[in-house]
Amino acid sequence: MASPTAAVVGSGPNGLAAAVLLARAGVATTVYERASTIGGGARTAELTLPGFHHDMGSAVHPLAVASGFFRRFELHKRIELVTPEISYGHPLDGRPAAIAYRDLDRTVEHLGIDGEAWGALMRPLVDRAHEVAQFTLSPLLRVPAHPVTTALFGLRALEQGGPAWNLRWRDEAAPALLAGSAAHTVRPMPSLVTSGAGLALATTGHAGGWPIPVGGSQAIIDALAADLLAHGGTIETDTEIDSLAELRRMDAVLLDLAPRDVVRLAAADLPNGYRRRLLNYRHGDGVAKVDFALSGPVPWSDPALRRTPTLHLGGTRDRIAAAEATVARGEHSDDPFVLVSQPSVVDSTRAPAGQHVLWTYTHVPGGSTLDQTEVIIRQIERWAPGFRDLILASTSATAMQMQQQNPNYVGGDIATGAATMRQLIARPTLAFDPWRTPVPGLYICSSATPPGPGVHGLAGAYAARSALRHEFGMTTLPALGLIERPA
Ligand SMILES: Cc1cc2nc3c(=O)[nH]c(=O)nc-3n(C[C@H](O)[C@H](O)[C@H](O)COP(=O)(O)OP(=O)(O)OC[C@H]3O[C@@H](n4cnc5c(N)ncnc54)[C@H](O)[C@@H]3O)c2cc1C
Repeated sequence: MASPTAAVVGSGPNGLAAAVLLARAGVATTVYERASTIGGGARTAELTLPGFHHDMGSAVHPLAVASGFFRRFELHKRIELVTPEISYGHPLDGRPAAIAYRDLDRTVEHLGIDGEAWGALMRPLVDRAHEVAQFTLSPLLRVPAHPVTTALFGLRALEQGGPAWNLRWRDEAAPALLAGSAAHTVRPMPSLVTSGAGLALATTGHAGGWPIPVGGSQAIIDALAADLLAHGGTIETDTEIDSLAELRRMDAVLLDLAPRDVVRLAAADLPNGYRRRLLNYRHGDGVAKVDFALSGPVPWSDPALRRTPTLHLGGTRDRIAAAEATVARGEHSDDPFVLVSQPSVVDSTRAPAGQHVLWTYTHVPGGSTLDQTEVIIRQIERWAPGFRDLILASTSATAMQMQQQNPNYVGGDIATGAATMRQLIARPTLAFDPWRTPVPGLYICSSATPPGPGVHGLAGAYAARSALRHEFGMTTLPALGLIERPA
């Protein structure tokens, strides 16, 4: 009998995670990637000058550490992850930066007047970090496996996502710290979605930490690809799939794509109602990214920030909320929220000796074509005067250029779908198995399916699990670790 076959369209972390599971289950799996390199939003490349290795998308990996898929894959044994003592830092005007140490007690001590309040908010979640990750990285339509943890999380999300969000705090530092994590959603705040994401990320900051892969995010992708190839899978780059007809011979097809491209590829096969629901899927606002090659380390005014790989710029929570509201109105903020990663402070492989890479992006209205280089430089200069003088080279991608690099990022929406409450539940449609489409053998495995954006591989793993069950009758998942043993 011929062995079962599967195609995965797109080699992002979810596409590759799906492919690894399928290949390990004995399915002959081919990954098709339109770009000339694999990895989608987790690629690393010399974008500016030779010897400067920049992450093209993701830079920081709390979700890889929290992911059940990567735990079973034993990612930590396959690549080197540096977990810094400071998960993320947040400069403030005229005072020391707010710092989220991985150590919760140290953070409590450092936050001074609001330290105890931060501890009371975070400790019950950090003590149950594994259960919090299970809840936040699972489809929301499931019955929670840990109702007490879910309730503790939900009550805190309600408090920090509504009108009472200021009652707990007496100072600016702690709420700014939480706002920095919440702002990853690119949504106006406060809301249940922003507070939920903020709390989930802050919990990882005091649990597994916010690690940086040595060599860049590409190391995660290369580990997935190596495992796929070792289990008989193949990868074809520079191969854009334009229609499902090209893959008819396959028993299963998994699309690591945005819903609108699922419609484009499968239009003739999709029932009208389902096609309409996919076309009604909403994309969020965008990001504009700027990468710098630097002649030396960024001269942050607060010395603690000079050894902090991840920073949130934007000042107080009120200012960040105002910046995000501006973007949500369809305007560009001149005091924007800026995410900064300086991986070379913990990973010397990223740049020539003594020199550094700096990864930055800011939020902009979806579809923006404005270059944000000057705005970002100005915002960094505010807390690191002299930064401009260190710039050897820079490269910028507007929101629309982000989409050109990767069609999953529609209008620059790097989450492949707006983080609205509705789309947390119906992603991309309301279903107990949202990865499985009504077309026999066709699945969606991108971050437009649960649990949403991030490098966790879980959307791919859930989709592959569904395909293995429905197409190949396999209900037991293959082992994923380096030494093969039953899962
Ligand atoms: C600037 C930026 C910063 C980010 N920061 C972080 C971070 O720090 N931490 C984190 O966890 N996450 C981060 N993310 C999010 C994370 O990278 C994404 O959520 C993740 O990559 C989604 O994975 P995916 O496999 O669903 O899709 P993608 O990674 O988007 O991959 C989709 C792939 O499909 C390919 N493709 C599309 N259409 C076709 C076609 N027709 N035929 C063949 N191939 C096709 C694309 O080229 C791409 O390679 C960031 C993303 C970006 C862009």
